[in-house]
Amino acid sequence: MTDTIFHFNGAENAGWSQPPPSMDEAIKHVPENMRRRNLPSWPRASEPELVRHYTKLSQKNFGIDTGFYPLGSCTMKHNPRLNEKIVQNPGIDRIHPLQPESQVQGLLAIYYEMQEMLAICSGMDSVTLQPVAGAQGEFTAIRCIQEYHRERGEGYRDKVIVPDSAHGTNPASASMCGYQIIEIPSGDDGRIDLEALRSAVGDDTAAMMITNPSTLGVFEPEIAKATEIVHSAGGQMYYDGANFNAILGKTDPGRMGFDAVHYNLHKTFSQPHGGGGPGSGPIGVKGHLSKFLPTPLVERRELSDVDPGGVGDGFWYHWTSPECSIGKVQQWNGNAGAVVRAWAFYRRYGRDLERMSEHAVLNANYLRFKIMNPDPKLSIHAMPVEGCPADVVKHEFTLSMSPLKEATGVTGKDVAKRLLDFGYMSPTLYFPQIVPECLMFEPTETESKEVLDKFADDFHTILTEDPEVVLSAPHTTPVGRVDEVWAARNLILRFPKGEGSS
Ligand SMILES: *Cc1c(COP(=O)(O)O)cnc(C)c1O
Repeated sequence: MTDTIFHFNGAENAGWSQPPPSMDEAIKHVPENMRRRNLPSWPRASEPELVRHYTKLSQKNFGIDTGFYPLGSCTMKHNPRLNEKIVQNPGIDRIHPLQPESQVQGLLAIYYEMQEMLAICSGMDSVTLQPVAGAQGEFTAIRCIQEYHRERGEGYRDKVIVPDSAHGTNPASASMCGYQIIEIPSGDDGRIDLEALRSAVGDDTAAMMITNPSTLGVFEPEIAKATEIVHSAGGQMYYDGANFNAILGKTDPGRMGFDAVHYNLHKTFSQPHGGGGPGSGPIGVKGHLSKFLPTPLVERRELSDVDPGGVGDGFWYHWTSPECSIGKVQQWNGNAGAVVRAWAFYRRYGRDLERMSEHAVLNANYLRFKIMNPDPKLSIHAMPVEGCPADVVKHEFTLSMSPLKEATGVTGKDVAKRLLDFGYMSPTLYFPQIVPECLMFEPTETESKEVLDKFADDFHTILTEDPEVVLSAPHTTPVGRVDEVWAARNLILRFPKGEGSS
């Protein structure tokens, strides 16, 4: 690669639009033996050089703004630019977390509305916006559940149950809280196995973590029974909300019997992610867990109560701390920018958020149908999970590339690489692990029928192409196949000093 800017080395060429490094005053206070002898090799490029450098780099990457990005479970939907304008409003962008409440009533109102909206759409009683990732939300909620058990004198509950289709963060978060993980197998149709659950619960069950629809995109119609089994053993139910895009406005985890849930604002609510921006993973809990939430939350009071006799009418928003809070899990108030973008997104949908989920589910089912029902002349080497009925597939679906591998030697990974040549990001690869040679597709609601039709056609083309072409893909990307094993064993995380290229 020659696309570095290190050959614009400040020691030799000064970028003329930048001031020279001036340390004359400050350097006097640094002891002689601690001063560096040479200027650092920081690049000092001129503005056009710098702009070209970053523009080139941005063109090497694949992103949702470049093309279709059906990365299952990650919900890579379009990020409306209006949200960026709103978040750059000086009343939001230029404020400091230590400003007094009286100066940040607007932001507090947004926080409050967001807490309320998330509570309503999930059937929970209280919400904190503090965690900055789904995984951190999981950890936070499991900690609240842990405190709940301890307060009841049941701190001996030391096991968390997860299905084998769970996202890796579920067992990781629970074990960070000190819990042992009990993994239960899924049924043949990919859904929860109630018998396996029954034999896994006991006096030692602290919680079960599960997403619904599952990571196969399959709705669990027996979820209420699962909840009952766990609750009757004294455990709590945790809902991994990464798949919220499938159910908003249709049903909610509260109704399914869950006690706690996280939301991924960077999935369901369009905050950019995947290298595009920081995330946000608020959690919601039922009343019995509310007092353990991290601090602070936003509360609202009638202005007439705050300032009796005053002329104001409306509301006063203020920070508050839950009674037995587990403490803070993030500095300040979480990722405020992500919260504001998600708020802007939901405010424009309003009650129509339900339509968003309907279209996401429709798109996934349409694409699945298109892929599974090709031109009869084509032989297709992909199959859905055995026994999984089509009518329960929601916002994403999985296909096994095993038949293709058996017939031609081409693996799911080869197909994933080849898709890049056609201008698509690959679906999620080899997850969930219970599906052999798994590809997991999530088109989201923001793609048109034309995009889905074209993708299905191109996908069929790949399945019927000369295997040699697929096995050596990608052919058109700036970087071809990388040797992952070599890269992992020979980690290079910095540019060698003094080199213009690496
Ligand atoms: C993305 C995801 C998570 C974790 O969310 P992050 O924000 O990436 O930490 C958890 N569970 C599922 C099913 C997910 O898709």
